[in-house]
Amino acid sequence: MIDLHTHSTVSDGSEPPGRIVELAAAAGCTAMALTDHDSLAGVDEAGRVAAAVGVRLVPGCEVSCRKPAPPPGAPRIEGSVHVLVYFVEPGEGPLQEELVKLRGDRAVRNQELAARLVDLGTGVTYEDVLAEAGDEGGIGRPHFARALVKAGAAEDIDDAFDRWLADGRPGYVPKARLDPSDVARLARQSGGVAVLAHPLSTGLGPRHLERLVASLAEGGLVGIEAVYSSYTPDQRSILRRMAARHDLVATGGSDFHGSFKPGLFVGTGRGDLNVPDEVLESLEERRG
Ligand code: AMP
Ligand code: FE
Ligand code: FE
Ligand code: ZN
Repeated sequence: MIDLHTHSTVSDGSEPPGRIVELAAAAGCTAMALTDHDSLAGVDEAGRVAAAVGVRLVPGCEVSCRKPAPPPGAPRIEGSVHVLVYFVEPGEGPLQEELVKLRGDRAVRNQELAARLVDLGTGVTYEDVLAEAGDEGGIGRPHFARALVKAGAAEDIDDAFDRWLADGRPGYVPKARLDPSDVARLARQSGGVAVLAHPLSTGLGPRHLERLVASLAEGGLVGIEAVYSSYTPDQRSILRRMAARHDLVATGGSDFHGSFKPGLFVGTGRGDLNVPDEVLESLEERRG
């Protein structure tokens, strides 16, 4: 069993990188990927623990992408397009350089977003958000959401997004985004591969998702995340078949965030996740 989607304190998870590796080992995983948003900063720590406990650590990250323009007649993508990258090590490289830029832009966005929330009278300041994140580099909207809940400006995390943080809401401040095909190209140039994360988050129905997946395959993505914690057996098999039709690897992962997404476990997701080791071998075969 493997888990190809986890978040640590480096981005919006509650557990440090090494702890996630320990949880993976305890769950019986032979390998796990650390996929923090825009960052490989947890990979070294996770790798050290992985070597000690006998788990293979796949270095990775997750990148929130620009939504591709719909083909004629298709609806606009209302949801999100996230791309997972595997086998890219921290250090120098084309993708690594782009991640530095993305983090820089995120930092500017975070300052603007905090100023916006002050102006809007939410009572939330940048310091409150920083207290939620612990580390400045990892701040994301989930940390703003928690600060908004604590300040009484939202009932819960979802409400914080619905009222303030989601695209189109008063607190929304856009940040730089890459196209999925840019991520695929940069990943390949850096020795890695790219995969579409949680495809149903795009909000597209099967027919339009199929067209998106076809164009992403054309753009160099090598897989789609078919086996995902919140997906039903039917949804998983629809996505598996979609992957097969486009010669893509059907990958899987928990999207573990520690206590920030309760009820989710490394390796087993909500209890029924069981991604076979062969998926990692298939991904490895797609490396350039
Ligand atoms: P950021 O990269 O800082 O813009 O934050 C994006 C993250 O916010 C995503 O990876 C999700 O974890 C979370 N997120 C985005 N939209 C929502 C939503 N409507 N409800 C809850 N969490 C969300
Ligand atoms: Fe996340
Ligand atoms: Fe995601
Ligand atoms: Zn994720």
